[in-house]
Amino acid sequence: MQSYLAGELENIRKAGLHKNEHVIASPQGVEITLDTGRQVLNFCANNYLGLSAHPDIVQAAHRALDSHGFGMSSVRFICGTQDMHKELERRIARFFGTEDTILYASCFDANGGVFEPLLGEEDAIISDALNHASIIDGIRLCKAVRYRYANADMDDLEKQLVAAQRHRFRIIATDAVFSMDGNVAPMDSICRLAEKYDALVMIDECHSAGVVGATGHGVTELFNVRGQADIITGTLGKALGGGIGGFATGRKEIIRMLRQRSRPYLFSNSIPPSVVGAGIAALDLLETSTGLHDRLTQNIHRFMSGMQQSGFDIKPSRSAIVAVMLYDAALSQEFAERLLQEGIYVVGFYYPVVPKEQARIRVQLSAAHTQAHLDRALNAFAKIGRELKII
Ligand SMILES: *Cc1c(COP(=O)(O)O)cnc(C)c1O
Repeated sequence: MQSYLAGELENIRKAGLHKNEHVIASPQGVEITLDTGRQVLNFCANNYLGLSAHPDIVQAAHRALDSHGFGMSSVRFICGTQDMHKELERRIARFFGTEDTILYASCFDANGGVFEPLLGEEDAIISDALNHASIIDGIRLCKAVRYRYANADMDDLEKQLVAAQRHRFRIIATDAVFSMDGNVAPMDSICRLAEKYDALVMIDECHSAGVVGATGHGVTELFNVRGQADIITGTLGKALGGGIGGFATGRKEIIRMLRQRSRPYLFSNSIPPSVVGAGIAALDLLETSTGLHDRLTQNIHRFMSGMQQSGFDIKPSRSAIVAVMLYDAALSQEFAERLLQEGIYVVGFYYPVVPKEQARIRVQLSAAHTQAHLDRALNAFAKIGRELKII
């Protein structure tokens, strides 16, 4: 196996698909220091509200360590449930306007554990073609029949719903924000079709919680369908603190059943108190003021309009993800490399992560970016864009 793996790794490298990791020697934030000593502005973290190293969050984690210890040494149902876990579950339900919540170690686990306990071979899952890997894996772990519809295509979704009418239960599963384009799922139409064809709705709010909607309450706020989704999954690892931890929140009977049957919940450790305390503090920050969310919204508009003024081809986005289209794979790598030399850290994506001839640079905005940070990024993009004759 050793020589086989060495050969495969060499093939990955030759195909230009090898993932290299830049090492950061500072806390995560909009200004970071790499282990080379170079200081760069970070435009590729999911740190949408700037909470990764926010003093209130760090302090809440310290407080929870002091009051509730380091670890739980148990799964939830044996002896791994503290008062804080119950409080965080209630707070997440309040945030999304749902009935009950179940915590997981990650949203990857939540998506992996949410389908199998609820659906059997007589049921159907109707899944958006661009759903996150963890939803795809969760569907694979479940015996329900799988239907796929083209990304956010409501005509195709309707066709699949018609085809799935013979099943006992149907569930539509979708990301709220698709991470490569930054587009949002049209939740109003999805909920309408779910009603018409008697289907449940599952939404993954990983990139939308804290980001999308007038006050950052996610895609159900944006489309005015709060309370209509049956299951919402999400993460504490992006806007809501940036640490780790996931959840499913929704109808109480569903959440109760997941507590009984969901394998990643039953057979994996309870999330540690510091993470729980920080999660509660993140929700406190969001619920006491819309300041961070307002700042993020402003930064998104400023960045997008600056890029458009420079003449870049930007995908329409209603999230904090901005796809700068370059179309050519090699160009996307060169562009990202040159931006790093200018002190702007972004990532270029190309096939197979995005479709062929759709290479791009993905920019992620944060509430912690200042006007000066945005100006530096916009100037660097414009300079390199001119040098490479893109604008
Ligand atoms: C990041 C992400 C996940 C995984 O979340 P973790 O909590 O990091 O496991 C799941 N779904 C979507 C859509 C994501 O973007």
